Amino acid sequence: METKYIFITGGVVSSIGKGIVASSLGRLLKNRGLSVSILKFDPYINIDAGTMSPYQHGEVFVTEDGAETDLDLGHYERFIDTALSKENNVTAGAVYQRVINKERKGDYLSGTVQVIPHITDEIKESIKAISRKGFQIVIVEIGGTVGDIEGLPFIEAIRQFRKDAGKGNSLYIHVTMIPSVSTTGELKTKPTQHSVKELRSYGIQPDILVCRTTKELPQSIKEKLSLFCDIDKEAVIEGRDVESIYDVPMALEDADLANQVVERLNIECEEAKWNGWLEVAKNLKISDKSVKIAIVGKYVGFGDAYISVCESLKHAGAELGYKVDIKWVHSDEQMEKEDPETYLSDIDGILIPGGFGERGVEGKIKAITYARQNNIPFLGLCLGLQCAVIEFARNVCGLTDAHSTEFNPESSNPVIDLMEHQKDIKNIGGTMRLGRWDCKLRPDSKIRELYGSEIISERHRHRYEVNNDYRDILEKNGLKFAGTTLDEKLVEIIELPDHKWFVASQFHPEFKSRPGKAHPLFLGFVGASIN
Ligand code: GLN
Repeated sequence: METKYIFITGGVVSSIGKGIVASSLGRLLKNRGLSVSILKFDPYINIDAGTMSPYQHGEVFVTEDGAETDLDLGHYERFIDTALSKENNVTAGAVYQRVINKERKGDYLSGTVQVIPHITDEIKESIKAISRKGFQIVIVEIGGTVGDIEGLPFIEAIRQFRKDAGKGNSLYIHVTMIPSVSTTGELKTKPTQHSVKELRSYGIQPDILVCRTTKELPQSIKEKLSLFCDIDKEAVIEGRDVESIYDVPMALEDADLANQVVERLNIECEEAKWNGWLEVAKNLKISDKSVKIAIVGKYVGFGDAYISVCESLKHAGAELGYKVDIKWVHSDEQMEKEDPETYLSDIDGILIPGGFGERGVEGKIKAITYARQNNIPFLGLCLGLQCAVIEFARNVCGLTDAHSTEFNPESSNPVIDLMEHQKDIKNIGGTMRLGRWDCKLRPDSKIRELYGSEIISERHRHRYEVNNDYRDILEKNGLKFAGTTLDEKLVEIIELPDHKWFVASQFHPEFKSRPGKAHPLFLGFVGASIN
């Protein structure tokens, strides 16, 4: 079968869930036995998401091959259950960089380098790079909203791609919003009419409309949209709000999205099979038993900043038959200023996620002391491990000024420090320890039993490491280095053997948890918090 391309654009407002629509459609097509990959174009100039604050764009997701990507890639991986790579997230900055590098090499010698065709060709090349990997379906999501100046080269490239893909091999889906007037409750189609008009002015006529709405889309509204936007009535798809993101595939299946896609692209495929998804989605909504986990971090109130951590907790809870209630605690404004009892006395487990910069670090350390002393299950992720090591060094080993050189370069006990190879690095972007690293687990560790194997592989995103000069003293005082890199030079997991559950990892397990396949570390942590 020739590769089929599905392009997803967004209209009216940002954050209407294009990423979840793309992920869900991917799931529905996988249910039909098709091989699917999803590519996200981000029209910003940053080369990747790695240099952006979570306040701007939420979590930075990390792939196996070490790309720092948009958080939508996390949804894609969780929904289509496939590991993606750096080729699956391409920014305008990366496209321009490639073109400019070619220009400097002389590849365009004697030519004027222009947005069309050079930038658009490079964009199209990114799409072809995915299809060369042999997928039957390539879904391409364009970040932002139709009409954004930054997005224009991408819109132009996907317009041109219809020809490149060959007749009948491409499809345009426009995800839009149908607002309702608060006083009358009436659903309004005008913003969608305008956004489709805008898309047509760039030469793209959408084949399918996915209409985000809070209520049922009546036939009359579908007919109106069909008439004004020149879209077949059956291709006007209701995308109503549902209880959980994992219910979206079912809602879109019921709304006939996948059948419309398969028909319009003339795809021969198997009958749809859910393969356990329905059960998993149902378990993810368990509400009669719950466990309360505190996340102590500095991006509190920005749910997207820790989205993979939250999803991983949910996955683990669902597998254990519990709903995970997350209590957000500000590491700086709350933990640093007040008695930890105020925020943590009603908590079953404490999680310290990753992070950068000094703000809130002392609050995280304080929460860890509380977890350690009160035998409350604790899970530390990346910076969470570094804070746990600092806490242990200060309060158990008696190294009262222990710190990370990230926060205090003058500390006389730098228990967390840069490795030699990181010391000469000048550029911030893309230079951390990134992506997949193998880790060897100690046979006598709790973790080893949970993973069920000695060698594991996990994804990283950090610059600092446990300082090997302090391994002896930490170990003598009872901290167990449960996992290291294969050469034993870098610490990957620590645990406290005498504690109910006190585990921290230098890597980010949250990037590998999937619905129905919860990650062992989260299963262990949530399980201990339930007991
Ligand atoms: N700031 C720490 C480092 O760079 C931890 C990073 C993280 O938590 N992802 O090592």
